[in-house]
Amino acid sequence: MGKPTGFLEYQRVESNNRSVADRTRDYLEFHQELSLETTRQQAARCMDCGVSFCHAATMVEGESIGCPLANVIPEINDLVYRGIYTAAYQRLRMTHPFPEFTSRVCPALCEGSCTLGEHEMPVTIKEIERFLDGYAVDNELLVAKTSARRSGKKVAVVGSGPAGLACAYELNQLGEEVTVFERADRAGGLLMYGIPNMKLDKTIVQRRIDIMQQEGVHFEFNAEVGVNVPLSRLQSEFDAIVLCGGATKPRNISVPGSDLSGVVPAVDYLSDATRQLIHDQGEYSAKFDAQGKHVVVIGGGDTGTDCVATAIRQGAASVVQLEIMPEAALQRQPGNPWPLWPRVKKTDYGQLEALEIFGGDPREYLTTVEEITGDDSGKVCAVNTVRVDWQKIDNRMTPVPVTGSEQTRPADLVLVAMGFIGPEPTLLDTLGLDADARGNIQTIASSYQTSRSTVFSAGDMRRGQSLVVWAIMEGRDAAQQVHTFLVG
Ligand SMILES: Cc1cc2nc3c(=O)[nH]c(=O)nc-3n(C[C@H](O)[C@H](O)[C@H](O)COP(=O)(O)OP(=O)(O)OC[C@H]3O[C@@H](n4cnc5c(N)ncnc54)[C@H](O)[C@@H]3O)c2cc1C
Ligand code: SF4
Repeated sequence: MGKPTGFLEYQRVESNNRSVADRTRDYLEFHQELSLETTRQQAARCMDCGVSFCHAATMVEGESIGCPLANVIPEINDLVYRGIYTAAYQRLRMTHPFPEFTSRVCPALCEGSCTLGEHEMPVTIKEIERFLDGYAVDNELLVAKTSARRSGKKVAVVGSGPAGLACAYELNQLGEEVTVFERADRAGGLLMYGIPNMKLDKTIVQRRIDIMQQEGVHFEFNAEVGVNVPLSRLQSEFDAIVLCGGATKPRNISVPGSDLSGVVPAVDYLSDATRQLIHDQGEYSAKFDAQGKHVVVIGGGDTGTDCVATAIRQGAASVVQLEIMPEAALQRQPGNPWPLWPRVKKTDYGQLEALEIFGGDPREYLTTVEEITGDDSGKVCAVNTVRVDWQKIDNRMTPVPVTGSEQTRPADLVLVAMGFIGPEPTLLDTLGLDADARGNIQTIASSYQTSRSTVFSAGDMRRGQSLVVWAIMEGRDAAQQVHTFLVG
């Protein structure tokens, strides 16, 4: 612990976001880095509490707590406080291949279980990670490193989201020859075509891909395994296959009118917005635009928030975000004590932007859609909603429509952000793999090995819709398992 009295002397400080007026005029990142001096003070708040839960990556009361990657956070904080930044970055990289991603998009599971957070505000662990990423870039620590050892084994990784990238990175460092097959035109999965640019600039994702290519990882783009890349090719050319195809099957809304033009899955909308941004004019023609439109987002989660923020940047006339669940409390409730992840109300960047621009929080809780209506040309023009009351019926909590609460809302664009139900069936079916009860790829305990011994799986495709940090952890650990399987 660098400064024993740090947690008594300094309050938690988070870095500033760009003002709403400024940031909603562009798609550049809105979150800024803390200054060096403030970062050191924030690192000094770490108490090195002995049994530090922040890096525990363990289960408490059936819930996972702490950083899934098991980053050694107290040691990193100590090194930062003492100004030994290169060592701090190297310490972070020992467990974490891509801090540049999580330091921008991670919900910071570590902070939910920081011991200081039991009575005070937790240490700003994510901001410190972000500072170290910036330090590494400024000091040329983020450079290609090739591994001298070569095992002579070849591995195909299917999918280039955070799980596939982490797996490919680790396998390459362990000495395998790795080829990543990606059906999109660029690598990154949801890091590239899902999470908006204002949260994670696409140059940051591309920078990592470039480094990995320099390190020797091969990428094949526009290559959909099971469609235009036959599985037989992977089976004959590679010693092992790792499936990291994500949980890309969206949960659809099954109400009358859901097939109208203008009712769009959230990821289609968000990836279209990113494609408009990163492809040259003329090379890509936009499919969706919220300019001047009344936008209704169905789903109050993070993907819905990304839709709200993107629609605002495109110049939407109004944005409403519907959420069927009740509003969460502002403080931890009984049954949700520290060090569990705090299930409290979060007002995120998109809602803050809507508050300032439209004068109100866009979220409407306990509200669902009964019908979507269209005009004569088959285009969406309104959404009929109703409030719900959650009641226990046959021992199950059920949303019951409240009579008289029906409302018709104008809607020119309806974005469905209701989550994902699992992986697409192509790879599972073609390889004849076992699925678990939720339809994800079944693997043997933590070996990441599927019902076929040379086929492994990691990330959302294996664990279901999750987080970037979990995908990186799974990709990293699956690589170790594949290496052990191939090399011993
Ligand atoms: C809009 C949105 C915003 C999000 N924001 C956050 C956030 O802020 N923070 C956070 O922690 N998490 C966030 N998440 C969740 C996070 O992005 C995912 O949990 C994570 O990306 C999963 O990683 P993955 O590698 O398993 O899969 P993915 O990122 O989904 O990548 C799978 C890749 O496999 C490719 N693929 C699929 N099938 C094939 C095939 N047959 N052949 C070749 N390629 C194939 C796909 O094209 C894709 O590139 C968000 C999710 C969404 C949808
Ligand atoms: S990756 Fe996420 S959970 Fe882990 S230390 Fe960083 S911010 Fe915390």
